[in-house]
Amino acid sequence: MNFETFNLHPSIMAGVRALGYSVPTPIQSQVIPLVMQGRDVIGLAQTGTGKTAAFVLPILERLRMGPRGRVRALIISPTRELAEQTCEVINSLGSKTGLQSISVYGGVSMERQTSGLRRGAEIVAACPGRLLDHLWKGTISLANLEVLVIDEADRMFDMGFLPDVRSILSCILQKHQTLLFSATMPDDVRRLAREILHDPVTVQVDLQLPAKTVSHALYPVQQHLKTNLLKQILDRTQMESVLVFTRTKHRAERVAEQLLRAGYQVTSLQGDLSQGRRQAALEAFRNGSVKILVATDIAARGLDVLSISHVINYDMPEDTDAYIHRIGRTGRVNKNGDAFTFVTSDDADKIVALEQLLHTPLERLTLQGFDYARPAPARESRLPRQPRQYGTENKRPVKRSGNTHLASHRNVQGRRPGTVTAPAVSRAR
Ligand code: AMP
Repeated sequence: MNFETFNLHPSIMAGVRALGYSVPTPIQSQVIPLVMQGRDVIGLAQTGTGKTAAFVLPILERLRMGPRGRVRALIISPTRELAEQTCEVINSLGSKTGLQSISVYGGVSMERQTSGLRRGAEIVAACPGRLLDHLWKGTISLANLEVLVIDEADRMFDMGFLPDVRSILSCILQKHQTLLFSATMPDDVRRLAREILHDPVTVQVDLQLPAKTVSHALYPVQQHLKTNLLKQILDRTQMESVLVFTRTKHRAERVAEQLLRAGYQVTSLQGDLSQGRRQAALEAFRNGSVKILVATDIAARGLDVLSISHVINYDMPEDTDAYIHRIGRTGRVNKNGDAFTFVTSDDADKIVALEQLLHTPLERLTLQGFDYARPAPARESRLPRQPRQYGTENKRPVKRSGNTHLASHRNVQGRRPGTVTAPAVSRAR
């Protein structure tokens, strides 16, 4: 199947070509024709499957004709980052259609959004809380809405947004088409879907399984040696860019600081930053000026950076769902990726659950020449007293017991001190 099959208008096909898409992904092949027929759809797909274009393309096709300057499509997103990214996809795919989109989320000036809305956008990608603020103030009208998309519904539920979503739905009185996307189907989301979708078609793509383009490996290590191991892996492994996940905000900051002090170009993303700082961090990572991003699970969904070659779980994720979302940041469409997970003796149960999910035992790797026996310091200090320079020494190959995908070893490029764009991402309103 190719994109011509969908009979999209040439102005939209121009966007498809500009983004270099040649073959529709499985979710696109199934969802686009259904949406173009006007059906309500439940899309069970994780991020990384191309689900955004699966709803954006038919929306552009539908809105291409008809009135301009009023909100005709609304995408509700759980996070600011996802709302921004969705608008970017709309702007790229729809650049020749003349359709306008705007993102709406908290933490930034309400007035600027209001004047943006007043100028007239046809598509709005919004986080629930701020959208409700606009609805209550009367600065947005959904009276002309034709298509509603609820994106990452399970995450919306996790973040406690379902009541807000229900309030928004109560403001939409006219008949419209509804699309709901979710990686998993918790009961509350299933209930919501039953209530609000009309005779929906369910499309499921690789639900709850990580993308096949990602390979997985475990690195057993003691807690106090994790940062050293991380540095060694960064030094010895060929990587385009790396997303490192920690369990807490504090750890994300601490690990980023430790890497920075050791001379790596690194930025961090966690829940306490201003919108400006989080955008700066994401932008630096996205445009490749910073190759390492240390983040909490806030970056586990929606972060769309095609060049992420490696995800390193500095801390084991809470559960298999979290694992899938984290590693979904690499191995994006048609690209390969590696997921390394540092595990301690406390993680035994989680490893069993993960291996059950993946239907295969995971490879345990050890790094040749790494001092696994080094004792823990008497009291862990917040930062190393002597910033250590990591040079080109010790570039011995990583031992990968039968796995050769890291056969050549080049460290993360452009390592130089001084680029922590500070932390980031709070709950979007
Ligand atoms: P998503 O799951 O919507 O976050 O998309 C994941 C990534 O896949 C994004 O970088 C998209 O630009 C890319 N993508 C989406 N559809 C296609 C396609 N048909 N061919 C190649 N890349 C695609």
